[in-house]
Amino acid sequence: MNTIPTASLLEAAAACRVLHGEGHADMTLGHVSFRDPLGRGAWMKRSGIGLGEVAGPDDFVLVDFTGRKLAGSGRVHKEWPIHTEVLQARPDVQAVGHTHPFFATAFSALDVELEAVTNEAAYLGSAPGRFDETRGLIDTVPLGASLARALGDRSTALLRNHGVLFVGASMARATLMGVFLERACRSQLLLLQTQLPYRATPTVELFAKKEQILDPQLVDNFWAFYQRKADADRA
Ligand SMILES: [Zn+2]
Repeated sequence: MNTIPTASLLEAAAACRVLHGEGHADMTLGHVSFRDPLGRGAWMKRSGIGLGEVAGPDDFVLVDFTGRKLAGSGRVHKEWPIHTEVLQARPDVQAVGHTHPFFATAFSALDVELEAVTNEAAYLGSAPGRFDETRGLIDTVPLGASLARALGDRSTALLRNHGVLFVGASMARATLMGVFLERACRSQLLLLQTQLPYRATPTVELFAKKEQILDPQLVDNFWAFYQRKADADRA
């Protein structure tokens, strides 16, 4: 039996490069993972390189639910419990990302709810969960479990003064949630700066709008678009 999910690893590597180009780059910090198809744990981006430097399967490690490395030669990010705890708490989730995008991380400091002032926040499905327990690394199983509770059944969460969490039923959907969250936070921060009155998308329209955009065909289209863009940016 082939125990290395090569196609999924290539897709996860592409997700890292997309995130790098869409505002999620922060030195060598930030990581994505996906559920091991054999149930052994999470395949995570390895530590020591930036999201934009992730080239392929060799840049991932398989960690089990206790943080033990089962495969891969790279080092494991200290925040592995984010991935293992979210994957255990959310059977519907296949992919998890944690990054420090500039605008969303700044937004995380605000005592302001994210509103759908432009399209992207509507696509998230609901306002992000908020995690306040620590501003430090999520490097223990209890902290990972606590973050998973803050996420609840949502697609995103803001970790105050730290960064963001985004999840999805596929690598494409999780990555898009991360991209949309950063754009949504950026839009609202821009509006707040003007100090002018504004209106957000009415709650009654939010669900319909999300369904219009996140149908499988459009998700495929957006995912393909962002991969082409990442490739073009690197060329
Ligand atoms: Zn972090």
